[in-house]
Amino acid sequence: MTAPAIRDDLRQWQQALRAQFPIVTGHPELAYLDSAATAQKPQAVLDVVQTYLTTSNANAARGTYTWANRTTELVERTRERVARFLGDPQPERSAVHFTSGTTEGLRTIARDWLPGFLRDGDEIVVPDADHQANIAPWREVQRLLAREGTHIRVVPMPYQSGSGDYDHRALAERAGPRTRFVATTHVHHVYGGDMNVQRIRRAVGPDAVICLDAAQSVGHLPVSVAELDVDFVVFSGHKALALPGSGAVWARQERGPAFTPGGWSGTPNTVGIASLEAALDWLDAAGPERVEEWTVALAARLTEGLRHLDAYEILGCPLSLAADSAVQRRQAIVTLRHRAIDSGDLGFILFSHGFMVRSDNHCQGDAGEKTGSVRVSLHVYNTVEEIDRLLSVLASLQ
Ligand code: PLP
Repeated sequence: MTAPAIRDDLRQWQQALRAQFPIVTGHPELAYLDSAATAQKPQAVLDVVQTYLTTSNANAARGTYTWANRTTELVERTRERVARFLGDPQPERSAVHFTSGTTEGLRTIARDWLPGFLRDGDEIVVPDADHQANIAPWREVQRLLAREGTHIRVVPMPYQSGSGDYDHRALAERAGPRTRFVATTHVHHVYGGDMNVQRIRRAVGPDAVICLDAAQSVGHLPVSVAELDVDFVVFSGHKALALPGSGAVWARQERGPAFTPGGWSGTPNTVGIASLEAALDWLDAAGPERVEEWTVALAARLTEGLRHLDAYEILGCPLSLAADSAVQRRQAIVTLRHRAIDSGDLGFILFSHGFMVRSDNHCQGDAGEKTGSVRVSLHVYNTVEEIDRLLSVLASLQ
């Protein structure tokens, strides 16, 4: 398969958006290819942060004066904004809880909600090669409950060797009537594939609770809770163009109250929440489906170019642009290994050419890749020229 040509209208649309990222346009000699770690921020988000801090900064749900009221409204409005962005058909009624990011969001569900939901003899499904943030908290629940005399079973979610996808058939065989909770990832942070949540739902049935780690999908592609049929969605604002410390947990209405989302103990990250509202507005205006189209096209160009370079191995799903539900679709992450050059050294060499990439094992769980790799992760500000330059540097290292 060859990577399809990128349409002119899409290129023009992207150029206009790229121009809105001052850190990117201010450093034309550099190419930021590490958006899976954190994303850059458009001017609109920077402006909102400045405006909020210079016109309305106050604590929320405390005072009775204008700035405090504005801040309280901002927090409430952004809960609904998050729910709407996630395609919740009743955004005003769902529960959205702000956290510092995905790691804290997943821990919050594991600590505050899951123990009360599980009964002795229940099973939970936990993937063993996801990001550590989506493994450790669930195993901890098992230990915590065991101390109280409640014994649950952790069923590992297997991976299909070499594909970067879950082994959906094995999951269907392992899941049973006691399977009440499934932790899963939407887009894999190393393999780059869409993990096909609808197939997981079919395997575990309608009653199991599915918790989606959407750290690598929110802000990159349309995420619809109605279509995905999940119970929790957890994401990091900083990977979706907002400030660090601005993540959220969305909970299906029936699961929500346990988080007391209306409770106001502690000071929320009001600046982060202001940035999150602005980032979601910006993304909605840009169009998540076009952001996806652009970054998937760049990833396809990169994987296609790499196929002609024998020195490299690509981890995870093969080049697949199919939207077919049975075929994994690669998103904006391409992870590679040079057969002779260590990943740390390769990252260093690439930076000497101006490319910022991530190299190591990417916080992957125990069953993941044991040797390091270099991850190239893309966002809407990345360009075809950056990919072509990267490919020519990689070719020169063969
Ligand atoms: N889950 C996935 C799939 C990730 O890629 C990451 C971060 O890279 C996390 C969880 C943790 O996100 P954060 O560091 O924002 O809490």
